[in-house]
Amino acid sequence: MNNLKNLRGTIDLLPDQLIKWQNVEKILLEQLARASIKEIRTPILEMTELFIRGIGEGTDVVSKEMYTFLDRGERSCTLRPEGTASVARALIQNGLSSNLQKLWYMGPMFRYERPQAGRQRQFHQLGVEFIGYDSVRSDVEIIALAWDILGKLGIKELNLEINTLGDLNDRLNFQKSFLEWLEINKNSLDLDSQNRITKNPLRILDSKNIQTQKALENAPRLFNFLSEESHKRYSDLKKNLEVLKIPYVENFNLVRGLDYYTHTAFEITSGALGSQATVCGGGRYDDLIKQMGGPNTPAIGFAIGLERLILLAGKELEIPRNTDIYIINQGLIAESLAMDLSRKLRNYDLLVELDLSGASFSKQFKKANKLKSKSVIVIGDDEAVNGEFIIRLFDRSVNENEEEVISFGNDINLEKWINNNLLIKRCS
Ligand code: ATP
Ligand code: MG
Repeated sequence: MNNLKNLRGTIDLLPDQLIKWQNVEKILLEQLARASIKEIRTPILEMTELFIRGIGEGTDVVSKEMYTFLDRGERSCTLRPEGTASVARALIQNGLSSNLQKLWYMGPMFRYERPQAGRQRQFHQLGVEFIGYDSVRSDVEIIALAWDILGKLGIKELNLEINTLGDLNDRLNFQKSFLEWLEINKNSLDLDSQNRITKNPLRILDSKNIQTQKALENAPRLFNFLSEESHKRYSDLKKNLEVLKIPYVENFNLVRGLDYYTHTAFEITSGALGSQATVCGGGRYDDLIKQMGGPNTPAIGFAIGLERLILLAGKELEIPRNTDIYIINQGLIAESLAMDLSRKLRNYDLLVELDLSGASFSKQFKKANKLKSKSVIVIGDDEAVNGEFIIRLFDRSVNENEEEVISFGNDINLEKWINNNLLIKRCS
């Protein structure tokens, strides 16, 4: 029989790798809480129609990348490829879309793509959505938030690219002359882009093909079709970013992969990532909620790819927290006492490991050493019978050990000694 393996593009995150994930997630959650952003959790599985309507049929995500299947009731279901459409649906369905809200979500997303470094079929995103906000200041806050989150994780070589896509009207005006240009210049484009002319012409701007990029230099610019209002919005955005000293680069070809964006679009890339350089993508989507059947609700958001974030985050986040107390124990009475003691110690902010091996004391000591435990508690039946245990504190910096014998009588009165005991001072 063949060995069973995971599906291509999915990975197992093993305990050692998860230390970094957990440290990164902890910082993310702290930053989000400090910015008063609340969590929302939506199902991973949705009706396929949600993404077709929400993201747009001509997009890569919908046309090529979705995990879609019929369930046993013959309903077409899709594993979510992104979070915004689901959040919009949930808000409409729960009658919440007209409230002002700042929301975040985090979890797995699924896209059928060619796996490579920083690109998987099951990957993870942190997304933030500001719902009901239409002022330029909300665009600025969302960009600043993404920028600061990445900064808080110590990520270097960050570049912020911004663009404006105008509103629907601006885009229609632009599209007319862009389509004329495309018809004339069709043959200078790569095949993929040629196919997009009828399906999703705006996406051609985003093509990575060098020949197409070169040809596009002479194409009409969306920027020149913006209304006065859209222009003002964009220049206000830039002014505000300058006030906050957040450096940006304008990229007129930045259109983002999903259909629902309006006005502000942005991406944050890192030079340290190689070819899959975008760690964060976001933008304004003022028409999405209305298009999906909800009230007219402006909104803006971003998503950070966690795999790429983990690749970028510093090595110091890979270091596990050391064990504070390792409980070495052997013998019938000692073992039940040790169990009791470990439960009590876990009421404090201590990382306590109870040795369950039943191995010799020396083996247990070795294990405690390997874990660099800051202290050990030793309980053998001799000690247990005498109503005491031994605590040994290791001061690794000076290579010194201290030993203390603790008597507990009938009950282990931890409260009494733990608060003024060296143990806590050393371990914290
Ligand atoms: P890309 O151009 O890299 O395909 P995208 O425009 O499709 O990105 P978005 O839909 O904007 O990506 O998603 C936001 C972020 O999620 C990306 O910037 C990236 O960090 C991450 N991401 C997207 N697709 C994947 C994937 N298949 N594997 C890992 N991370 C991904
Ligand atoms: Mg993509």
